[in-house]
Amino acid sequence: MEPESEFQKLERKIVQCRLCPRLVEWRERVAREKVRRFRAEKYWGRPVPAFGKPDAALIVVGLAPAAHGGNRTGRIFTGDRSGDWLYDALYQFGFANQPVSTSMDDGLMLHGCLITAVLRCAPPNNKPLPEEIANCQDYLRQELLLAGGKRAVIALGQIAFRAFLRTWREAGGETAGLRLQFRHGGEWVLPGGITLISSYHPSQQNTQTGKLTRPMFHEIFRRARGILDERE
Ligand code: SF4
Repeated sequence: MEPESEFQKLERKIVQCRLCPRLVEWRERVAREKVRRFRAEKYWGRPVPAFGKPDAALIVVGLAPAAHGGNRTGRIFTGDRSGDWLYDALYQFGFANQPVSTSMDDGLMLHGCLITAVLRCAPPNNKPLPEEIANCQDYLRQELLLAGGKRAVIALGQIAFRAFLRTWREAGGETAGLRLQFRHGGEWVLPGGITLISSYHPSQQNTQTGKLTRPMFHEIFRRARGILDERE
């Protein structure tokens, strides 16, 4: 058996974390009480680790697991509507072997992509508190440090965008002289050559209102694919 990598050690630590009392209580309560349509399922009910390989060229940063999505299935963006959008886009541009993600054993594999999030526990109403974001920040920072192959980062939503930039700066990354303001389709080349792309989050709040459409979302991944292909 291969020895556990630093990245695997980190992910194992994340899954055991109980640092935010409000989120621990919520994730476990949701897992106990469930919703009717998933009543027969055993919920994960723990922090959700990153999905993919740490040497991936593309890193996608989301907000947090959904109560009945990742918090149920144990895989990030899996079993909820946001995930339907994300994995479809990843598949369309060659980052995944299938367009859907339904459970941990559904055969999904990512190609050159790592998906992670600002928070690893589902927050009530998808609204984390500032101190909870701060508590989880170090996990993202450590992941980014261990992720050696990254060439492009897609931040899904304003919170992910800000969290990525904070971790980038904390890790010694420079952003001086760059006008870094969140918008859909923003693109910046950071010192060191990593391209940061900002996108609206594919939450139902955005997709059901038409703020984010499929073509708009696909365009983000088309650009990431183009950037990575150019650099090969
Ligand atoms: S949100 Fe992050 S820091 Fe808070 S309990 Fe979950 S894993 Fe730990």
